[in-house]
Amino acid sequence: MPSQSLESYLSGRWSRGAGVETTLVNPVTGEELATASAKGLELAGALAYARQEGQGALRSLGYAARAKLVGAVADVLTANRAKYEGIAIANSGNTKADAAIDIDGGIGTLKYYARLAAGLGEVRALLDEKPVRLAKAENYQAIHLMVPRRGVAVHINAFNFPSWGLWEKAAVALISGVPVLAKPASATALLAHEMVRDVIGAKVLPDGALSLLVGGAGDLLANVTSDDVIAFTGSADTAARVRGHPHVVMRSVPVNIEADSINAAVLAPDAAGGGAAFDAFVREVVREMTVKAGQKCTAIRRIFVPADQASAVADALAAKLKGTKVGDPRQDDTRMGPLVTRGQQAAVLGGLRRLANEAAVICGGMQPPALDGIDPDKSSFVAPTLLKLKDASASRAVHEVEVFGPAATVVAYRDEREAAALVARGGGSLVASIYGEDQGFLARMVGEIGPSHGRLLVVYPAIAAAHTGHGIVMPQCNHGGPGRAGNGEELGGLYGLRFYHQRLAVQGSTELLASLQAQAASLH
Ligand code: NAP
Repeated sequence: MPSQSLESYLSGRWSRGAGVETTLVNPVTGEELATASAKGLELAGALAYARQEGQGALRSLGYAARAKLVGAVADVLTANRAKYEGIAIANSGNTKADAAIDIDGGIGTLKYYARLAAGLGEVRALLDEKPVRLAKAENYQAIHLMVPRRGVAVHINAFNFPSWGLWEKAAVALISGVPVLAKPASATALLAHEMVRDVIGAKVLPDGALSLLVGGAGDLLANVTSDDVIAFTGSADTAARVRGHPHVVMRSVPVNIEADSINAAVLAPDAAGGGAAFDAFVREVVREMTVKAGQKCTAIRRIFVPADQASAVADALAAKLKGTKVGDPRQDDTRMGPLVTRGQQAAVLGGLRRLANEAAVICGGMQPPALDGIDPDKSSFVAPTLLKLKDASASRAVHEVEVFGPAATVVAYRDEREAAALVARGGGSLVASIYGEDQGFLARMVGEIGPSHGRLLVVYPAIAAAHTGHGIVMPQCNHGGPGRAGNGEELGGLYGLRFYHQRLAVQGSTELLASLQAQAASLH
């Protein structure tokens, strides 16, 4: 693949920043694939163009017409899917299965929202609540409408899902009538760049509806207005900088944060000895640790098991992890590829060293694996690494350090109460999964750990073969979590549209409200 200098699509044209901010590489070979820079690009003008042109065009349409646009974007991407897979393998070190989660996850979310919003019809607002009477007079009432915001949706995405991250956010904003300025993470921007190039080239969206910023964020946040919204996905550190940016604070710009998360899987006491729930648990933990080399915000990082079974469970997991073929993702028998960059490899190995102060390494470890035909000085591999806590109650790092790679730690719990208390020490997570046959235990755990999560997957044997996976974000379900996970909310069907709308109470005569209601679709 010859190296290219990536361009941004701003103010209706492609342009390139000065110099090189980031070099994109193949994490197997270290080969340079592309360079990215946004230096010197006129971001205030780009935002103004999107507000003027994109907003105007999208606003003139109803939800169903915008749903058709989103469906057309999905069609363009589907037609070009084959080349995207090659890019994800080269730039993100994805296996074909990893690439499918990112690419098909993005296309699937676009299609889901296109279908869902088609049912809203050609109205221009959403009805949030039925009319309520406010006074004795019967003809004076109030309704709550949701009306599309007038600004730009600024989407800042993480490196691990250059496709899904882009389209899961864009689908919801475009359906809501809000133009998008997307900024992919620089290290893996090649896929987002190619996809947006195809969508723009196909002319399926109005001018200004979709802009792309490739390179650093520069002064982007200094140019947002209170009409705009920011949806950020990335690390908790960058999230704090985005949320705390003085301009964002001064103008009360709405910010949705999807940050990092130390997600848990919990094995119930009744399932620890084996059986369908146990098998489902082992399968899911191994899958979560190795898919995308553990670079998923939703991946399982803490594995909670009853104390008397902790060693047996760790052995069962280690046996499977040792059998996972790690290597060049272009080879068909490879099950796990590298991390995306040597910087990420160094961060993960550093994180493992911190965890290893409190935990024994059961398999894998802090040395990159030796792989046939792969140069360890140019590649970014980390072995699937399982740790086991020495003392669950005294340990801290396991609840505090996000190791964004193929690593997780077994945490032994004595009883239900301790299990719930230890899970909560993650400080707020995107997702947890619970595995068992005792319905009472499963229901109690939902109540106990629910408040510190955005989503729970509860695996009873009857759904062991049917469920969609701990780490897979379904557009029908809420995505986001409290506390360190950022306290954000995305997707969740029509609920996800709220972020791009202003909630508006309208007090008036029954006649006026009836006519407004007739021009709105119910959000519920
Ligand atoms: P990151 O370093 O925080 O970067 C995220 C994005 O923020 C990138 O596009 C980055 O651009 C941009 N950025 C950096 N500094 C900025 C600033 N001062 N102002 C505005 N934007 C700025 O995160 P990452 O390393 O790409 O992603 C890994 C992290 O994301 C992990 O912690 C993971 O848990 C989290 N994540 C969370 C979710 C979720 O849904 N909750 C999903 C995926 C990943 P550059 O790349 O150009 O620096």
